[in-house]
Amino acid sequence: MNNISDILSAQKTLFRSQKTKDVNYRLKLLKSLKTEIVSREQAIYDALKKDFNKSEFESFISEYGLVISELDLVINNLKKWVRPKRIKSSMLTFPSKDYIYKVPYGSVLIIGPWNYPFLLTLEPLIMAIAAGNTVVLKPSELTKNTSNLVADIIGNVFPKEVAVSFQGGAEVATDLLAQKWDYIFFTGSVPVGKIVAKAAAKHLTPVTLELGGKTPCIIDETVNLKLTARRIVWGKFLNGGQTCISADYLIVKSSIKDAFVDILKKEISRVYGDNPKDSKDFPRIINRKNTKRLEGVLNDVDVVFGGDTDIDSCYIAPTLVNEPLLDSKLMSDEIFGPILPILSYDSETDIEKIIWYYEKPLAFYVFSNNKHFVESTLNKFEFGGGVVNDLLIHFGNHRLPFGGVGTSGMGAYHGKHGFDTFSHNKSIIKRGNWTDPPVHYAPYTKKKLKILKKMFKWFG
Ligand code: NAD
Repeated sequence: MNNISDILSAQKTLFRSQKTKDVNYRLKLLKSLKTEIVSREQAIYDALKKDFNKSEFESFISEYGLVISELDLVINNLKKWVRPKRIKSSMLTFPSKDYIYKVPYGSVLIIGPWNYPFLLTLEPLIMAIAAGNTVVLKPSELTKNTSNLVADIIGNVFPKEVAVSFQGGAEVATDLLAQKWDYIFFTGSVPVGKIVAKAAAKHLTPVTLELGGKTPCIIDETVNLKLTARRIVWGKFLNGGQTCISADYLIVKSSIKDAFVDILKKEISRVYGDNPKDSKDFPRIINRKNTKRLEGVLNDVDVVFGGDTDIDSCYIAPTLVNEPLLDSKLMSDEIFGPILPILSYDSETDIEKIIWYYEKPLAFYVFSNNKHFVESTLNKFEFGGGVVNDLLIHFGNHRLPFGGVGTSGMGAYHGKHGFDTFSHNKSIIKRGNWTDPPVHYAPYTKKKLKILKKMFKWFG
């Protein structure tokens, strides 16, 4: 049983057998998954290192550690999450007991990206299984070592009728998308997100799209420049800048810009040394194609720091670019690499002109000690989620839903929000039989209507 339609049909049969509705069965699978992952910890780091020179440290904080905490969270809370939730009844339906049942959708397709190839495949898988679904997962073809390991882990833990991984690129994803799924969860680029949404629309399949965009980062004159530089260098260059919520570009108050750029340069050298190519902590670009793309966007811009490239070793140095044009090649798309453009502003109108030039971003960052300025920017601009005075860290709190808005995505997950994403809310009313107020039955009379109007007013 290796072809897509056979597996899908076996998964649908298993789902209808009600086996995955048993919360103890789900917990057993999730506990085995944890044991398997823990036993493969070093292999996971090795695979990520081979794929794009990701250090063990970054692999722990941004992949392995997050997956294990998600598993612990779900293992400790699943019995509580699946319980039907009693909801206050309405007098209009008196007598009744009202509930929300959390039920699985059925067969879920998950398509993952390459940039956090362990986290962004495992986390949705965990929550889809926790919610009682079956899963077909397609990890990225670009991180062969990690994707093969993910497939191996899934193969060791799950019967194929429950979860399975299909390896391959766009062709395999296209075949998978041609099937009828009960839910599709996609993480990746905006153009492919549109392809996924179109395929989902054909069967009216609900979909979560975790996409990308150009995330701005505003820095005003009230900040501590050194602290701000330290946080920006960490968040921008983590994973080699290949992070969906990385700061795509900075918008810095003109009066502090030159001083801030000097401190940024010093901070990059402090962290990665004078030649970041020699740093064991600095990841490589995922492949030659993306390295060439990044090298290409550096033509015709003012590189004020870094700029070294080596296509053969997929290396792009941490690079600062001064005041690129909004319609330059560098600024026309999500950068997704260790290149940081620095724009400047004098007034809030300057900021608006820059941010509203682009589609709604996945994230938003503002560094400022001016509370009024912070609140005004947080409220004015549309974005998925954001942080004041740091980068990326909103991803780390599982209590916060994570997702985009507009072209940066739809739907959200993380922690309990992930369980909710993969669960349908079934509204149930259990009507009491001990009395049966006759007001809504025919024959309809003026008196009944008067009573109903009052009831709507009082209890509606
Ligand atoms: P991608 O869209 O190229 O690929 C993602 C997945 O889609 C891969 O598994 C790939 O095989 C598959 N795919 C590629 N072409 C396809 C096609 N024509 N039809 C169907 N499937 C296809 O994205 P990527 O390069 O792997 O990842 C980078 C992008 O993902 C960036 O835009 C980034 O912002 C975004 N991203 C978003 C999040 C988030 O949580 N919002 C997280 C990570 C990455």
